[in-house]
Order: sequence, then structure tokens, then C-alpha cells
Amino acid sequence: MPEPGAGQLRLRVTACGVCRTDLHILDGDLPDPKIPVIPGHEIVGRVSKVGSDVKNFNAGDIVGVGCLVDSDHDCPICNNNLEQFCSNASFTYNSPDKHGTAPVTYGGYSESIVVDERFVLKVPGNLDLAGVAPLLCAGITTYSPMRRWGDLKGKKVGIVGLGGLGHMGVKFARAFNAHVVVLTTSPGKQEDALRLGADEVIISTNPDERKQHAGSFDFILDTISADHDVNAYLNMLCIDGNLTLVGAPEKPFPVSAFALLFGRKSISGSLIGGIKETQEMLDFCGENNITCDVEVIPIQAVNEAYERLLKSDVKYRFSIDMASLKNG
Ligand code: NAP
Ligand code: ZN
Repeated sequence: MPEPGAGQLRLRVTACGVCRTDLHILDGDLPDPKIPVIPGHEIVGRVSKVGSDVKNFNAGDIVGVGCLVDSDHDCPICNNNLEQFCSNASFTYNSPDKHGTAPVTYGGYSESIVVDERFVLKVPGNLDLAGVAPLLCAGITTYSPMRRWGDLKGKKVGIVGLGGLGHMGVKFARAFNAHVVVLTTSPGKQEDALRLGADEVIISTNPDERKQHAGSFDFILDTISADHDVNAYLNMLCIDGNLTLVGAPEKPFPVSAFALLFGRKSISGSLIGGIKETQEMLDFCGENNITCDVEVIPIQAVNEAYERLLKSDVKYRFSIDMASLKNG
């Protein structure tokens, strides 16, 4: 890692979450993995060194870095606080590195990283750091589309897939006072779904259960990472209801026009969130004592964690304790 330059800081990584996207990239589901990949975009740590002209951080501060480490800062998209859509955005790993010494950015499965302070977030002091790390991706990815939808108070909100993203969707929907329904393929997750804040649970593989809720949801957040029939969920939306995709199945899937036409329904997508909104999400979590439910693992267990992730066997995010890197 280079020395932090003007406006940059180095942080020593304390914890880094394991996102399903790490696996999509390593498996080649998303285009163009640049080997070697150093994954990790759910990073918390302590500032160990600041470069010149750093204005907002000091050595010793506890900070976070999510999926973004650069953008062009002055286009209309960046000025609208939507850096994630800037055509010059650099993602935290596997993205062209315009300022560093390496050809691509390297992520948070690492002792330390160097980042432009404009992409560094302040972490509320009251939260457990292992549980904060996944907020930087799983948290903002679920917070942003629900905030954008509007006031969810009293609305019927479905969270499809109870994994890393899904369990945060449940926590936020509950905090926004929605009526929260988890739609899961895993009957074994029923109890956890209720504990996390769901009012109801639907086993989504059961057509009778789905039928009982037909035409009733105001908003559905779909976090499924694999191929699935999205029409089954569109049929559960009410008039003007919206289904927002945040999961990234590898292949395109068919959408029934009739499922949308009858009820003026819409389907949309959402990608993480901008830096301003990510800070707002972290502050909201600090005020409402929200963190991710994590299973803390040493880096040596990461391959096993990937295998378990593929089997939907994680409660509900792996968070790597980076001190374990010293163990070789
Ligand atoms: P995860 O922890 O593995 O959770 C995905 C959940 O989807 C699983 O727990 C499972 O829930 C359900 N699922 C998995 N395979 C399924 C299948 N074949 N059929 C039906 N349901 C299935 O993954 P994650 O980290 O939450 O990520 C979810 C997806 O979001 C990934 O594709 C990831 O790349 C993407 N992502 C997108 C963004 C964004 O900005 N849009 C950001 C981060 C991640 P149940 O057991 O409850 O059914
Ligand atoms: Zn992620």
C-alpha cells in the first residue's frame, strides 16, 4: 500500500464483511475479474495515518469504507450525491485505480488500505465494529431503496431472501415502522425472521401461502442472488406497488407484462447508495442501535465461509476479524 497522499488517509482494517458480491466476482458471474482480486467492501478500521490536507479525520478515528473509493466529484451525478452512478466511479476493489500504484483497487481483506477522505465515513461510537462493517454495503443497499420509496409507516413491505442484505432490510423496515413480511425459501429461518423484526413470514416456495398475500404488498425488496421467478412476487404487489431488485442474479429473467399491467405495478433496481446517504444510514444506525448480526471468522476460514454462503448457511453475515491475518 502506498503512503497516503494529499487528501488521503490510511486505515488499519479491524473488520471486513463478506458480501455475496465478493463471490460473484471471484466466480466470474460479473464481467472481468482482474486477478489477483483482493475482495472486501464492508470495511471498518482505525485511521493510522493522514496525508496532507486531510480536513475531517485524525489518526485514531474509527471509520468505515464501503463500495466506493473514487469518482470525478464534479459531474451532475456526483453533485447530486449519487457517486455510485458516476461514469468515473472507482469501486473499492477490482476497479481501475487512477491514483494508486497498482493497476486496480484492492479491497478490505487486508491489513490496511489508503483512501481519499471524501469516501471515508464516520462510525458512531456506540456500535460493535464487527457488526458495523457489513452496514457499509448490506446496510446502505437496503436502506437506500426503502428511503427512496417514501414513508413506509404502516405499509406492507416484503423482504425476499433472508441473507446478509435481507436481514438488514428487515431491521430497517421495522425501524421505519412498516408491516414487515419476510419471504424465504428456508423454513428454518422463520424464528430468526420474527426475532429480527418481521411481523409475518411466508415460505415463498409454497404457492398457497403466496396466494393468501396476492395483491397486498406496497413494496417488495428482492435480495435473491440466484435465478428465480420474479413474477411470483410481482403478483403479490398491490395497485401501484413496486418491486425493487437489489440482488444480482447472473442471468436475465423473464418478466410477465400482465403481472405489471394489471395493477400499474413497477419493477426497478437500486445500487448501494451515495456517500452522503451512507453517512446518514450510519448515523441512523447509531441513533437506533442497529448493527448486522454477524458470525465473526478468522481470514483462514474464508473459503469455508464462501461454501456456506452458497448454501444460504450464514446468520446473517460473515465478518472477518482482520487481526487474524497475523496468524499466517
Ligand atoms: P446472501 O447473504 O447469500 O443472501 C441471499 C439470500 O437469497 C439467501 O440467504 C437466500 O435466502 C436467498 N437465495 C439464495 N439462493 C436462492 C435461490 N436459488 N432461490 C431463492 N432464494 C435464494 O447474499 P447477500 O450478500 O445478501 O447478497 C444478495 C445479492 O445482492 C447478491 O446477488 C449480491 O451480489 C447482491 N448485492 C447487490 C448490491 C446492490 O448494490 N444492488 C449490493 C450488495 C449485494 P432464503 O434462505 O431466505 O431464501
Ligand atoms: Zn457488497
